[in-house]
Amino acid sequence: MSKKIIILGCTGSIGSNAAEVVREHRGEFDVVAVSALRSRERCDALAREFGAKAYCGPEGALRAVEENDADVCLVATVGMSGLKPTVAAIEKGMDIALATKEVLVMAGEYVMGLAREKGVRFLPVDSEHSAIFQCMAGAAAGEAERLVLTASGGPFLDSPADLSSVTVRQALAHPRWKMGPKVSIDSATMMNKGFESIEASWLFGVPADAIDIVIHPESIVHSLVTFVDGATLAQLSPPDMKVAIQYALTAPRRLPSPRAKLDLAAIGALTFRKPDYARFPALSLVKEACRLGGCSPAVLAAADEWAVDAFIKGKIPFTGIAAAVEECLESAPRMECTLPAVEEAARWTIERLEK
Ligand code: MG
Repeated sequence: MSKKIIILGCTGSIGSNAAEVVREHRGEFDVVAVSALRSRERCDALAREFGAKAYCGPEGALRAVEENDADVCLVATVGMSGLKPTVAAIEKGMDIALATKEVLVMAGEYVMGLAREKGVRFLPVDSEHSAIFQCMAGAAAGEAERLVLTASGGPFLDSPADLSSVTVRQALAHPRWKMGPKVSIDSATMMNKGFESIEASWLFGVPADAIDIVIHPESIVHSLVTFVDGATLAQLSPPDMKVAIQYALTAPRRLPSPRAKLDLAAIGALTFRKPDYARFPALSLVKEACRLGGCSPAVLAAADEWAVDAFIKGKIPFTGIAAAVEECLESAPRMECTLPAVEEAARWTIERLEK
């Protein structure tokens, strides 16, 4: 029996790669519905190719979930828009292959509680979380002591020293991964890695202060887990999102793929170092949001989404992204993490920044 899949955000970077994985394993998967925010033609074309239903526009992702049944819902929409369709998919008992980080950043406590209640699995799609997921296979609760997320460091790892005047084009030019604009800018500020640490904390039930970030410019080691007995496991592969996407869709099975295989001798050396918290204040803001708890991570995500868009549109400088986030975090009202409160916190944040 083939696995029924819904792909939300089918025309984005993750969605397109997922479509490629499905093409490579036709008999394994049955794509029943696809959604896209804007690219109607490409969405329709993909739907025709897979014999799936196409949903386009702002409500497309939610409708795709509400009007179809599937075993797995791949959530690869941009930013906060992923939350409602994810909740709807969990309510319907679908496993969640999660690429959209903001879902667990904003509402991790609520979403994970609901997932437990409904008995659905989270299948990480991001390379780091996929790596940890793979390293954790077979581990019992409490055996993982620390998680180590690797980070390429983005386009501004070593220069310029002063980031206040970098351009949008420079910020979008990620050295290792080809991704959409939101994730690329988040990688340049390192907010992306901060989001990933919050997401990892919810996915794997490890406290935020037991998650380390290490810079690894080669992007070969995708993350590591240190266990209570002193052993550390890592997952390695050449950087290609399709490895993680395929595993999310087939786990715990592994199927053959045409991906390039690792050649360590050709790479020669793998390097690691500490992140620079002074040049990348987003990392400290994430820690602060976690310390505050409740809806503070939702404020963090909403402020970042607004600020990244404002930066891309030339309204604020690159360093203004972290400044906007910090200002919102400091002044936001404290609320517990319920779904309405998360939505209210996001609205409050956007309104404050629009003023
Ligand atoms: Mg990542």
